[in-house]
Amino acid sequence: MDQIVLKNVTKNFTTKTLGTVTAVDNLNLTIQKGECFSFLGPSGCGKTTTLRMIAGFEDLTEGEIHLCGRPVSVKSKNLYVPPEERGLGMVFQSFAVWPHLNIFENVAFPLKVRKVDKAQMHERVAKALKHTSLDGMEKVFPGSLSGGQQQRIALARAIVTNPEVMLLDEPLSNLDPKLRESMRFEIKELQKEFNFTIVFVTHDQSEAMALSDRMMVMDMGKVIQVGTPTELYNQPINQFVHKFLGLSTFTYVNIRDGKAYPEGDPENALPVEVPANAESRMIMATRPNQIDMNRTSGYPSEVVKRSFLTNHAEYLVKVGDAVIKIQTPHRNEFAQGETCYLRFPGAMWYAADSEELEAERNRRQLV
Ligand code: ADP
Ligand code: MG
Repeated sequence: MDQIVLKNVTKNFTTKTLGTVTAVDNLNLTIQKGECFSFLGPSGCGKTTTLRMIAGFEDLTEGEIHLCGRPVSVKSKNLYVPPEERGLGMVFQSFAVWPHLNIFENVAFPLKVRKVDKAQMHERVAKALKHTSLDGMEKVFPGSLSGGQQQRIALARAIVTNPEVMLLDEPLSNLDPKLRESMRFEIKELQKEFNFTIVFVTHDQSEAMALSDRMMVMDMGKVIQVGTPTELYNQPINQFVHKFLGLSTFTYVNIRDGKAYPEGDPENALPVEVPANAESRMIMATRPNQIDMNRTSGYPSEVVKRSFLTNHAEYLVKVGDAVIKIQTPHRNEFAQGETCYLRFPGAMWYAADSEELEAERNRRQLV
């Protein structure tokens, strides 16, 4: 079932200093019931604004939003359902718990506002606290707690209303990396228990990949690609998505007679299949863990530097003028200065002028 539908949603902000900024640009999106769906993209690409429009904290400039088939924002009809009537829970990056209320009072607050009777309130708060590992701490005030515990209070306060949809705006960004990882799993566990749809905003690709059933990569207010983490990782639609989903090296390559020569080396062709529609200059993208480094055949290269990391060895090797990174398991190790041969089974190709979007973004940031 379609849980959240956005149709041609646009949001402009007008300020004195910047004039009109299009934060969200004609966005179309459908999120299914029960999905864990992430918005991923660089800072300023419109993630929070999109989430706030779904929540009803922000009006639309154009377009419409439907929740469970019910219109909640329709600009053309001036229809607007306020946030508290949308059946949503929300957790933000800043912990936003009330310091003058103890944990019980913080979590019970939304039920008090809704005038839920006392017995039911106690039952629901107890369940929310149990599932966020805060039971036994009802009387504690948040000020004395760690960031992780404060974020658990915010989570408990959001689930206590039994929302159909949980909107999470970078809820883990202010936590240390280890805690961040364990909280990811806790959020998934909460979803199983309380059965809500999750919309999760993040600029952290590994967080999005670990949590999401599907995700949307955004840039400058636009949808760039929607898909499962595997689809986006293995079939990025352009260089921007490719770059956003994990470490990659981009090497300029000249195409001559159907063969690919790395820039700076007109002698040795790369052992790759050149795409049929290749232009004379292309970009070859390679992920460090998808390059075969061996002693027998492939593109002849030289180890410029090697480092030993806990789970793999990392090499910098020369490919024409470029130096690219390779990660391999700890076996058949190569020495610095040693000759090696490279194969690129995971290579992906982009037109050499596909950096345009990035240039546009840089221009905007300079303004
Ligand atoms: P993200 O969450 O992806 O970092 P935002 O949705 O917060 O991005 O912002 C998108 C764009 O809209 C940015 O250029 C930002 O400066 C602008 N913006 C967001 N909120 C406002 C506002 N209240 N007034 C003016 N501009 C805003
Ligand atoms: Mg944001």
